[in-house]
Amino acid sequence: MTRIGHFISNTITTGSSIRSQPVFNPATGKAEKEVVLASKEDVNEAVAAAKVAWPAWAKTPPLRRARILDRFKMILWDRMDELAEVISSEHGKTHDDAVGEVTRGLEVVEFATAAPTLLKGEFSRNVGSGVDSYGIRQPLGVVAGITPFNFPAMVPLWMVPVALACGNTFVLKPSERDPSASLLLGEWLAEAGLPEGVFNVVQGDKDAVDALLHHPDIQAVSFVGSTPIAQYIHQTASANGKRVQALGGAKNHMVVMPDADLDMAANALMGAAFGSAGERCMAISVAVPVTDTVADALIERLVPKIEVLKIGPAADRSSNMGPLVTQAHLEKVRGYIDSAEQQGAKIIVDGRSFQQPMQGYEDGFFIGGTLIDNVTEDMTAYREEIFGPVLSIVRKPRYQDAVDLIHGHHYANGTAIFTRDGDTARAFASEIDVGMVGVNVPIPVPMAFHSFGGWKASMFGDHAMHGMEGVRFYTRLKTVTSRWPSGLRTNPEFSMPTLG
Ligand code: NAD
Repeated sequence: MTRIGHFISNTITTGSSIRSQPVFNPATGKAEKEVVLASKEDVNEAVAAAKVAWPAWAKTPPLRRARILDRFKMILWDRMDELAEVISSEHGKTHDDAVGEVTRGLEVVEFATAAPTLLKGEFSRNVGSGVDSYGIRQPLGVVAGITPFNFPAMVPLWMVPVALACGNTFVLKPSERDPSASLLLGEWLAEAGLPEGVFNVVQGDKDAVDALLHHPDIQAVSFVGSTPIAQYIHQTASANGKRVQALGGAKNHMVVMPDADLDMAANALMGAAFGSAGERCMAISVAVPVTDTVADALIERLVPKIEVLKIGPAADRSSNMGPLVTQAHLEKVRGYIDSAEQQGAKIIVDGRSFQQPMQGYEDGFFIGGTLIDNVTEDMTAYREEIFGPVLSIVRKPRYQDAVDLIHGHHYANGTAIFTRDGDTARAFASEIDVGMVGVNVPIPVPMAFHSFGGWKASMFGDHAMHGMEGVRFYTRLKTVTSRWPSGLRTNPEFSMPTLG
């Protein structure tokens, strides 16, 4: 059985740990590989490698760092299919979806190749007589990234290119459920010319995470995953004096106004709710039609589309949606549908009993698309993140009720409104307490040169990921005030210096 190891100092190693766990192919339901789980010593080795590499990398001119990222970008373009196949074999998503994920990650590499521009800083001449002042953004040192299963390439790529472009060295702890993509990223960065120790991967679970959170040489931690773990990471790393950005779970609502193009809204909901089997932090899991008339018309359009969803393995390139990531997650998602039914909601399309007909994939972790009507705020399936292909309908009579509903939820990652009315759209975008907003765009994932991050229980910490927020997170600002002898005052000054 293939054993997936760590990547330390540009070399793949299985380290010293004796622990490992199986890695499943969700489409076949079989454990096809195993991943080693790092011990504290393995983590220490990776951090030590990154620490040794840091001074030289921090001194490397940004343009040279950018050129390495530029070569890495070209490798990603050329080998996108290879990476996508690895992702699908461990995550289960369709090939096109995996290609989409890699493309969105690659865009952050493109952004980071502008390192010399991004790090230009600010300069004020003659702030006092003969005195100049300038701000420089300097790297933090060794930083860590801890990432979730649902985007095994894209989420690491939200962090790594920006951190490296800014002059930091990196230790990544990817999800133990789909660990292989991280090794390809490491090998390709090395091939692009990245010096040893600048980017390292430790595979593992809570033991590895805790070793990173308590390591005195880790300066900052970037985390993406579920909210309880995001809170734990934020609290523990902050208590240890580290800078932290910790992105958590989501429950994203899409408001459909009576004037919306309902065919457009229904198609948008199909991709946003069922794409990637709903295992996206920006998936729309709640549709909020305003008025019963809109709800009925929307359901009428959605039902036939959900019934013909092509659910299959990535090997079948015509699949719209793949399996869930594990058997345990499949059971959890089924449990949420059961709970909605028990609490009085109406299951309109029921995916619980879906059986994969394709030979060789009968034991995969597949579930059918599910549509639930008459969901209310108090139901478990509404309060909690399901992370599966389950769309809930919460009916509301007025726009303001839809806004109040969204404001009542503890998650605030993304949201969308579908309307033809510019006034309503503008009001929604400015008043809604959610981090990322779409107007007739169901999954408003910001481009690499903007920043990604939710509000409330969807993000802990002050800086969102990539874009200028990413640059701010991975650098510290130093302000230098300089005077040359020709501007020197002759007498000693004992009062607070004023330059004006
Ligand atoms: P998860 O929280 O279970 O795991 C994320 C990472 O934390 C993994 O690397 C895992 O090994 C580690 N981890 C798990 N339990 C831990 C513990 N007890 N102590 C320390 N570390 C631990 O999340 P997941 O199931 O891999 O991913 C799905 C979740 O991620 C969903 O909630 C989804 O909304 C969220 N997510 C959020 C965003 C965002 O941008 N807000 C993006 C993608 C995914």
